[in-house]
Amino acid sequence: MTIQHGILIRPPVEAYSLLLNVTEGCRWNKCKFCGVYRNQPYWVRPLELVFKEIDFYAMQYGREFIDRVFMAGGSALSAPTDHLEKVIKKIAETFPNTLKPEGRISSYAKNHDILRKTPDELRRLKEAGLKIVYMGLESGSDKILKMMRKGTNVYGQIKASKKLMESGIKLSLYIILGLGGVPLSEEHALKTAEALNKINPDKFRFRTLNILPISDLWAERDTFQICPPWMIIQEELTILENLEDHVTSEVYNDHMSNYVGIEGKLPEDKEDMIKYLKILLKDPRTKKLKHKGLLSM
Ligand code: SF4
Repeated sequence: MTIQHGILIRPPVEAYSLLLNVTEGCRWNKCKFCGVYRNQPYWVRPLELVFKEIDFYAMQYGREFIDRVFMAGGSALSAPTDHLEKVIKKIAETFPNTLKPEGRISSYAKNHDILRKTPDELRRLKEAGLKIVYMGLESGSDKILKMMRKGTNVYGQIKASKKLMESGIKLSLYIILGLGGVPLSEEHALKTAEALNKINPDKFRFRTLNILPISDLWAERDTFQICPPWMIIQEELTILENLEDHVTSEVYNDHMSNYVGIEGKLPEDKEDMIKYLKILLKDPRTKKLKHKGLLSM
């Protein structure tokens, strides 16, 4: 059997998971900084096809060897709930280790797709076995979300985040450092901290803006004032410094685009992380660092 699938993008933390295309492309497909799915039509893959693939992988790798499955696609949660529930149940039945504490079934989600589902529908997905969802908060600034055509505002991001966590599904948010460029750097950091204070996600992860040739932002590469690395580090510091003590998230810097690798649990590791970033910012060599300018991510 040959598996034909669309573009498979996954969070770095899902590098060793089985990647299963449940949807292909992105229903929104307009964020200026992205472009990953620009040439890929959006569709929900038929159950028959997804089930066949699950059976194929079970035969190929063995049911007991798979304990993590990432449901790929720009937002697998955009699939109808009945459809998704059947897929998750089939994954869990075929690979029972995904339901163990160290296993997981996960996906990306866009806030619209969470908001479209009722609390009961989200609970059904959680009960079927969906453990964690990765969502792009990107920024807590409405100005930046609009400028980047995220198609939502901070209110929507907060509402969707809370709704998802209330269902018992864990939430990991992505924040894109440098997303406002030099002029909006401080606003980006302060407003993002404000949003995180309101959400208190289970986890949040930093990544850093790179202007990719596949993205619409590429056309603005000569005018968009990309933040130098010291400013990126400063944004991360400002975010952490402005988090209130009730925020208990895990913090990750697990993306190749980042300049620091600090990770920890809030609030207990906050002071150490802040201290580390301050030391880094005082080092004169930090000011001379060049932006990575990655052309693929
Ligand atoms: S960032 Fe996410 S929502 Fe935006 S276009 Fe890319 S895949 Fe779609």
